[in-house]
Parts: sequence; structure tokens; C-alpha cells
Amino acid sequence: MNQHTLKSACVFKGKGLHGGLPVTMTVEPAGPGEGIVFYRTDLGGAPVRLAPSSVASTDRSTAIAEGETKVVTVEHLLSAFSGLGIDNAAVRLDAPELPILDGSAAMYVKAFQQAGIAEQDAQRRYAVLPGPFEYRDEATGSLIRMTPCDRFEAEVTVHYEHPALLRDMKAGYVCSDDYAGEIAPCRTFCLLSEVEFLMQRGLIRGGDIRGALVVVDCELDAQRLARLQEFFGIPTLKASQNGYLDNVELHFTNECARHKILDLMGDLLLLSRPLKARVEAFKPGHRVNAAAVRALVRQYPQML
Ligand SMILES: [Zn+2]
Repeated sequence: MNQHTLKSACVFKGKGLHGGLPVTMTVEPAGPGEGIVFYRTDLGGAPVRLAPSSVASTDRSTAIAEGETKVVTVEHLLSAFSGLGIDNAAVRLDAPELPILDGSAAMYVKAFQQAGIAEQDAQRRYAVLPGPFEYRDEATGSLIRMTPCDRFEAEVTVHYEHPALLRDMKAGYVCSDDYAGEIAPCRTFCLLSEVEFLMQRGLIRGGDIRGALVVVDCELDAQRLARLQEFFGIPTLKASQNGYLDNVELHFTNECARHKILDLMGDLLLLSRPLKARVEAFKPGHRVNAAAVRALVRQYPQML
């Protein structure tokens, strides 16, 4: 398989989820072998490249840095590159954080498909897993297990002790599946108790999570509902029959687990090239994913 890039540039405007800053981001074609490189135009175009060691933080999203230059919430864009097989692109943004858009990778996929994806005159280089690998996080019980495979396959299990609908919710993906239709539209999710916690500390604004799935994991009394209605700016908000707030409609019954596959694919691209392995992830998250990638190249440095 040869390398691929975009046929023309795509522009995205929006706000960062965590910092709330407006951002304009341009994703442009790049030459074979150049890889995915971010450039902070507000900092004189300083580059940030993908590498297992470039992870700067994994607090609710994945941030990468090179020297003093940092780029925050890269995972959904990286997932779109991974899912569509885009090897080379120059990503220019004028703020620290990528736009959250609708909380999924759907808008990236749609724009890239419209721009077109061009084959380049160079062989794609894969990160091929040579033997078994396991990363376990004792604190959270998370587990990332990989076995050699001649393509990319993933199976994710989401597990929370409390909310019944997130107990062992599963999703699977193999690289021949329809990423654009099955994974890219799946939005981020959070627990209602987390939303309240973040609201009380002024860490999120209602508009920022208007598109997120919210799992009702605590009692939803009239007072709490009134607070949430005001916060979201949705006067008719209620808990739906299936255990989510009805601010959005589900695309799939296991949309939360599919979003974890979306995130995992983005985080695995920190390897800087597409992975060939079968990946089983139990309770994955950005911190665990990034730590697993670092442990993977420590164990198998020949992969890169
Ligand atoms: Zn995500």
C-alpha cells in the first residue's frame, strides 16, 4: 500500500473544548515521508510532530508538544487520518487547542472525502507488532493487550462500576470496516455526575458539551434538572428511556464504546505510522492509551 495525502486543503473553525478559545485550523496536503505535522501559526509556525514521546498531557484529551510548543486535543483529527489512511498532512492552527466541532470525527471525514485523498509515489511504512504486548494500569484496572496481526483490528470494552448501561459495553473495528460510517460519527460522552462536578467548578460551558452523550448516573430530581436545563440552554431537557439525557439522539446503541475506538485509533497514531496488530482495550482512556504506546516502543523499539 502506498502513502496518501489530501488533494486540497480543508479549513475548520470552532472552539477548543477545554480552553474555549476560537481557533482556525487548515489541514493541507504534505509530501511523502513528511508524516502528520502540526504548526502553531500564532507562535511563528513552530512544528509539533507525532512521536510516542511527544505526549504532553492526557487530562481528558491528548496534548502533544515539541519543545515549548503544545497542541491540545489532537485525538479526533488523528483518528480521522488513521481511519481514512492519510499518512501525510500539514495542520496549521492559530490557537493551542483544536476545534471540538460536534465531538466526533464526522466533520473531518466529510471534509477530507470532499477534498479527495491522493495516492503518493512512496510505500507506506507500518508499525508492525512483532510479538505479544500487554499494558496494565493497576490504579484503574485498564488493560491494553496486543497480538500480532497482518492488519489493524480493535475491540474495546467500556466499563464503569455504577451506570448499568456502561458496564461492559463493547465495540469492534477492523481496518476493512467503514470507518466513515461506523466510527467517525460517534460522539464523546460523559457521566452526569462529572458534568455537575465540572459545572460547579466552572470548568465547562453548556455550549461546549451540547453535542456530547450524557449518561444519567445519578438521581435526576426537579432541582437538578432545572439547573441542567439552564446550563445547556435546552428548556425541554429530560432523561430519555434509555438512560441518557435527551440533549442528543444516539447514532448507535453502543455509541460510547465506538467513540472509545475512535479515540484509541487517534492515540495509536502517536506511533507516527499505522499500526498492524490486534488490539484489545479494556477501559481505555487517553492516559492509558498514551502510556501503552510508550511502553510498546520501549519493548519493541524496532517497530519505528
Ligand atoms: Zn474523544
